Amino acid sequence: MPPENGFGGTMLIIEDEAQIRHVVRQALEPELRVLEAATARAGLALAAVERPAIIILDLGLPDLPGIAVCREIRKWSAVPIVVLSVHHSECDKVQLLEAGADDFVSKPFSTLELTARVRACLRRARAPRKPEPQPIELGGGLVMDLAARTLKRNGRALHLTPIEWDLLRTLVTHAGRTLTHPQLLAAVWGDAGEVRFLQHLRVHLANLRRKVERDVLRPRLIITEPGVGYRFEMPC
Ligand code: CA
Repeated sequence: MPPENGFGGTMLIIEDEAQIRHVVRQALEPELRVLEAATARAGLALAAVERPAIIILDLGLPDLPGIAVCREIRKWSAVPIVVLSVHHSECDKVQLLEAGADDFVSKPFSTLELTARVRACLRRARAPRKPEPQPIELGGGLVMDLAARTLKRNGRALHLTPIEWDLLRTLVTHAGRTLTHPQLLAAVWGDAGEVRFLQHLRVHLANLRRKVERDVLRPRLIITEPGVGYRFEMPC
């Protein structure tokens, strides 16, 4: 049956218990071509040859620990790996994440849960990657790099506090639009951003201006809209 959700592809299950392999196959075969391996070594060989879209990996295998299989696959592949484990045993999740596992399902599991996890992993793996934002020229030698979280003037780093950074990032990413005080409070302080913190906003904004404006008495970048809020003016 062609998958309506477009998942398709091949799934490899590495699991020594035939009964569990069978259950997984039953649950996922409508959406994916299912390959089975009963040992770690057979699983590694199939993974290398078949390049599956997703791997379901049991931690307790007869020839190698599942975590070693996970590490081995991660040397050459970014394929999503969902680990099957007996609750409270075998390995802790931190170790598994460090070994490169993407998700966990505890035994005994429901096929609904397993199917949902597999779908979510495939969706994440297939989502188009967002391009990294490019550094933004703010004029006057100021360059803001949202990805690297840096602000530099003529190549030298300016140190902003986390709140100053969030304020500037919010203003710059809405450049040309006036953001109201409540909008800025909510963007920077989240749910805690109540209007009673308006004075905090003014203080942080004044500090930010001292760092980014050439002349704080005549700000050119962060413009005050009296009684309304602030606007970032991108220099032409
Ligand atoms: Ca096992």
